[in-house]
Amino acid sequence: MTGPTSRPPRRSALLRTTTVVAAVVPLCTAGWFGWRALDHSDPAAATAAATAAPSGAAQSGAAQSASPAPATPQATPTTGTPTGTPTGTDAAPAGTPSPTAAADLTGRTVVLDPGHNPGNFSHSTEINRQVDVGNGHKECDTTGTETDAGYTEADYTLDVTRRARALLTARGAKVVFTQDGDRPWGPCVDERARAGADAHADVALSVHADGGPASGSGFHVIMPAKVVAGKADNSAIVEPSHRLGLLLRDGFHAATGEPYADYIAKEGLDTRSDLGGLNLSAVPKVFIECGNMRNSADARRMTDPQWRQQAAQGIADALTAFLTAH
Ligand code: ZN
Repeated sequence: MTGPTSRPPRRSALLRTTTVVAAVVPLCTAGWFGWRALDHSDPAAATAAATAAPSGAAQSGAAQSASPAPATPQATPTTGTPTGTPTGTDAAPAGTPSPTAAADLTGRTVVLDPGHNPGNFSHSTEINRQVDVGNGHKECDTTGTETDAGYTEADYTLDVTRRARALLTARGAKVVFTQDGDRPWGPCVDERARAGADAHADVALSVHADGGPASGSGFHVIMPAKVVAGKADNSAIVEPSHRLGLLLRDGFHAATGEPYADYIAKEGLDTRSDLGGLNLSAVPKVFIECGNMRNSADARRMTDPQWRQQAAQGIADALTAFLTAH
């Protein structure tokens, strides 16, 4: 999802071609920049995320791509332990009962931000508009990535956040979406960032899936670096957001068995200063990159509705743990 570059967002049709090019260039910063530019773009300098360059040679991500599953939110929230078994070879299901299943979140408000928008693909002019994120400018929004089979990140994020909403609502929380597939494009990243304050939310989360090198897999959580520049001052949310990030890293891993990303971040955690959604947030907030859609094993998992339910469970449990600790 996220990547600093000055390049304009790419349309879906260009993703595969660009990915191949990026995958075969020498494994250096330029190559990293190439793939990371696929999904998100920003003129800001590369951040600490750049410490993990992709490893391994280029490989095809097409071999095991699965058919896109209908994005049908589960209407009946589950409150117990996830029952599915992660399918990845390095999956490590924890299987421990969720201590948050019976939590009462009455009176608490959560903003969920499904990354991108399925309509962004046909609104390039609108989403390419530059918006002020405090320490720079970014495109209003981007199209996001997709699996080789064409399952888009925008569809994935909507499905998982809807599932998480069902779980959180069942616990009494008020859940506000930045978009619910109910608008033609966007919103812009600055509007997404304002959503937490607008809703008087206790916490906010942006849900994404990454468009990394095909050889890389795993998930990571992005926490805000302190940014005090221009219209941005997120000083007050840095510390609670880091606590949220740790809870989400652990909760998502426990619920899904998804390994920590092996091509970016460190131990599943990253800190960035180039994301408008974090720079401009007035409430504790992190991003999660649930996996790498360009990797065949991750794509297979993310295409599986059962795995997406586990992902939603991990997200809901982490948010619940954060809220009940405050
Ligand atoms: Zn994204």
